[in-house]
Amino acid sequence: MGWFTVSNNLLALTTNELNVKTFSVSTFLHQFNSNRPSPRFIEKIWSRTLTRKQPNIHVSSHNQHLTMATLYMLHIETASNSSGPPDIDQDQRESLKRFAKWVPCKCKNNCDKEWNFVNEVGLSKGGNAKQKCGVERYLESGPFRNLFGRADGVALVQMRELWCQAS
Ligand SMILES: [Zn+2]
Repeated sequence: MGWFTVSNNLLALTTNELNVKTFSVSTFLHQFNSNRPSPRFIEKIWSRTLTRKQPNIHVSSHNQHLTMATLYMLHIETASNSSGPPDIDQDQRESLKRFAKWVPCKCKNNCDKEWNFVNEVGLSKGGNAKQKCGVERYLESGPFRNLFGRADGVALVQMRELWCQAS
């Protein structure tokens, strides 16, 4: 079973009729075949995003975003053979709780992009090839950005706030 299949299975689980919003560690472990990666390694990555209030990994669960973030870290660390951060602080965990959340662009150009702020600065996807995104232009314009793109700067702040709200 490839990684792509695993992530598609998890996405399907989040959108099936049961409308699963959280994943137990056992549901997550069952998405993988028995030899790759090892269950112990999966549990190690999974437990990285647990809070101190959830000391027992075997009864723990994550929302769909933390599940996707765990899958992403597993993918990166298996593929690159590197080890990730030993721990995740509270602020990073808050961001990871929205790992796969995207908000629509609020720029004036009707660009149809969507934004995610898990990296703090902002990541965008999609969009309309005919309309350059105003917020993207704002981010690219360096030290003079506030001179020419105040409205797009405000749009960026608003999108970030929207992204940070509990979903
Ligand atoms: Zn835009």
